[in-house]
Amino acid sequence: MTRILKFKNFFKNIPYLPSLYGIFPVLFLFVHNISELQYEMLWLPLFAVIFVILIFTVVLSIFVQDYRKSGLILSLFFMLFLSYGNFKELLLGGWLEDLGIIRDKYLYSLGILFFGLASYFIMRASDLKTVYGFFKTMGCVLITISLVSMGFSAYSTNKRNNVSSLDGTGQIDLSQKQNFPDIYYIIPDSYGRADTLKELYNYDNGEFINFLKKKGFSVLSDSNSNYQNTILSIPTTLNMDYWDNLLPETIREDDFTNKIQNSRVQQFLGERGYKTIFLNSGYGITSFNKYSHLKFDPSYINDFSTRIIENSLLKYFVIKRQFFGFNLKNEERKRILYNLEKLKEVSEIDGPKFVFSHINVPHSPFLFDRNGGEVDVDWASVTSSEQYNDLWLDQLIFISKQLSSVVEAILAKSKTPPIIIIQSDHGPDMMSLWSDEFSEADMRERIKNFSALYLPNGKDQLLPDNMTNVNTFRFIFKNYFNADYSLLENKIYTYYDYSLIKHRSDLKNIKLVPRN
Ligand SMILES: [Zn+2]
Repeated sequence: MTRILKFKNFFKNIPYLPSLYGIFPVLFLFVHNISELQYEMLWLPLFAVIFVILIFTVVLSIFVQDYRKSGLILSLFFMLFLSYGNFKELLLGGWLEDLGIIRDKYLYSLGILFFGLASYFIMRASDLKTVYGFFKTMGCVLITISLVSMGFSAYSTNKRNNVSSLDGTGQIDLSQKQNFPDIYYIIPDSYGRADTLKELYNYDNGEFINFLKKKGFSVLSDSNSNYQNTILSIPTTLNMDYWDNLLPETIREDDFTNKIQNSRVQQFLGERGYKTIFLNSGYGITSFNKYSHLKFDPSYINDFSTRIIENSLLKYFVIKRQFFGFNLKNEERKRILYNLEKLKEVSEIDGPKFVFSHINVPHSPFLFDRNGGEVDVDWASVTSSEQYNDLWLDQLIFISKQLSSVVEAILAKSKTPPIIIIQSDHGPDMMSLWSDEFSEADMRERIKNFSALYLPNGKDQLLPDNMTNVNTFRFIFKNYFNADYSLLENKIYTYYDYSLIKHRSDLKNIKLVPRN
């Protein structure tokens, strides 16, 4: 009997305060990135955090009998541990930064010192009832605010997300379904156009381009992306139109990010019996698509889990090191290689398919050398444009080789000749990274993207050499499905940061870059 009582008392004395301070940083990070994330991504990290906290709490309760003391110590610990990135950001820009001490190695020591001192005072305090009560109330308030803002965001997103109607879909003749070509849309992020590579990187990409041409690809020598970052570019390609025509009057961030799911391209093809096969890029908006028929994902570490790790002190354990065999960069490498392998296999799936694969290479982080060997270089340790260029070029050469074997496999295995689009969302950004101001020359590097299209049945003859991304699927739907889509005027917009665009009139103030 006394044993049971003891057991009961033990659980009664376990503090639940640390759970509040473990859950809050997770919710906080989610709310602040909500437009690029999906609610499903929340469950795994949330359960993992709660699970770990409970273990810590039970263990500490054995040594510290006062549940208020152990509760406060653990709350402080998890708050510091999980919100490390936020605290660092808070300190950046202040006078401490001028002293040059906002660096991880100093902050770690500072954090340990602070935590040690605070724990010491908590242990020595005689009455913590009021303090504990205060932190309990504050924890509840913080979580409530996060949940309310998540709920509000979900509600208003649902309200806004009426699927845009299609125009010019033309007659649908499903009797042809079996002969519809598979369509591959492969996006090697920030892959540059040949002339950029030559001029700025002193690299001749002839080998890859000649390989593609020999296989029957058209490689556009005057390709340009309409927008200069991923979130602005990919959705407009997938919706075959400019933002001016895709956005409501008053613009929210998720108006941009939402357009990637259930896009016009996906709807058009869906109506014709296509399955959408979605390869999870592991990066923001291209890491989920609830409207796809088949998803491939090699990792349980989703984009949100990655953000939590990078924002917390966990990064110390799993970015440069391995923690029980787990390393974040290895996960990224695994995902990229997995997706490349999947691209070689999906043609075996029955029926016409739209295959979407955004590959975050040659874009940083630097993960591969030119032969696919592991590279482990931190952003902070890249100090010159030469070093950056070498690393970047290595990734470009790596992905070119990989895409060559992907192309070989797709062409060899497809029963009906497929349509293959290898098109970057924008060009590279070497120049702008090393200059203080974003000049016109920087912009030109950024707008010259890579476009190579495999267009069977002689349609390649009709392809304009100066096509921009927004016209890619218009061209395909017009020429392969007789859809009533004409090519839009090629326009190049120079704005970069979508979060600054608040109203549709902001889109009008953007100057167009004259074509050279
Ligand atoms: Zn990009």
